[in-house]
Amino acid sequence: MLQDQGSPAARERARLIHHPGPTPQPDLASYDHILVAFSGGKDSQSCLAHLLDEGVDPVRIELHHHDVDGRGPPTFDWPITASYCRAIANAFGVRLYFSWRDGGLRREMLRQDETTGPVMFETPEGEIATINGRGKLGTKLRFPQITSDLRLRWCSPVAKIDVMRSMICNSPRFLGKRLLVITGERAQESTARARYLTFEPHRTDTRGGARRPRHVDHWRPVHGWDESKVWRSIRRYGIVPRAAYQIGFGRVSCMHCVFASPDQLATVRWIAPERFALIAAYERQFGCTIKRGADVHTLADRGRPYRAALDRPDLVRLALSEHWTADTRTSSENWSLPAGAYGETAGPL
Ligand code: SF4
Repeated sequence: MLQDQGSPAARERARLIHHPGPTPQPDLASYDHILVAFSGGKDSQSCLAHLLDEGVDPVRIELHHHDVDGRGPPTFDWPITASYCRAIANAFGVRLYFSWRDGGLRREMLRQDETTGPVMFETPEGEIATINGRGKLGTKLRFPQITSDLRLRWCSPVAKIDVMRSMICNSPRFLGKRLLVITGERAQESTARARYLTFEPHRTDTRGGARRPRHVDHWRPVHGWDESKVWRSIRRYGIVPRAAYQIGFGRVSCMHCVFASPDQLATVRWIAPERFALIAAYERQFGCTIKRGADVHTLADRGRPYRAALDRPDLVRLALSEHWTADTRTSSENWSLPAGAYGETAGPL
């Protein structure tokens, strides 16, 4: 955490925790930059939809997508993710920036007497900035653990949270500015997420500081939304859900999420056997399974591939391709709820 206990941001956060009162609504016109952490999943889409509902001009919105495979060999992510995010950004006329941990989760997982890899991010000038990894030499050689404790479930900080933090802290364009960082966690997803504040100073906030001052607020606008409200907002804008939802996945981020259910594992094994075999091989190499007591093959044996995946090979091909060739938007009348809606909720806690 960047904020020390006596900083103005830390005092503001403590005030919000101990005297919650009504949820603060940010004055959207007051920010110089509005940044949305955009996975391409339904919750980040509903954040974008909400900003548009609130009348924010799309030219003021920046989507930031963190590539979890870090431009290394495909391992955790859905192949279609980057192309789909580009298609959505183009459809809405909003800017999209990619950022990543070099080598992604795979490099971190295979780290052996090495430091964590550098963070890289696209700049508005069209360059790629590199922020060298810091920290001690160390060894992982294991999967992220299944817990809400982000020190042990290191995938989210390594591939997403710290990438955003590093990008903001190392972008001169944000110095002396007011930023609003928007993320799509919802209370309904887990008890850990239910405890998140809806509005608080962001971890990169340095308000009132003499050196490198930045006012950075963190807003979770859909924190109190239930799933039906999320899908309604997506329908209103006619956003065609990404293919993984259409073939039955209820939550979509990494294709090989460590929280995957037996049905998700059975589906991935059926649609992408080589990728599944890679994960199984790492379990054997590490001598440690992702879930305690059963390897991924055993877990997949307990599940069944989603019916929608079996029935729609065209959508499976799309989910596993690197080029989004389908429509990105449709009319709200023609929009249809994907097969995965209101389905399994397995995913990050
Ligand atoms: S989607 Fe799953 S595997 Fe991917 S970063 Fe989040 S918790 Fe980790």
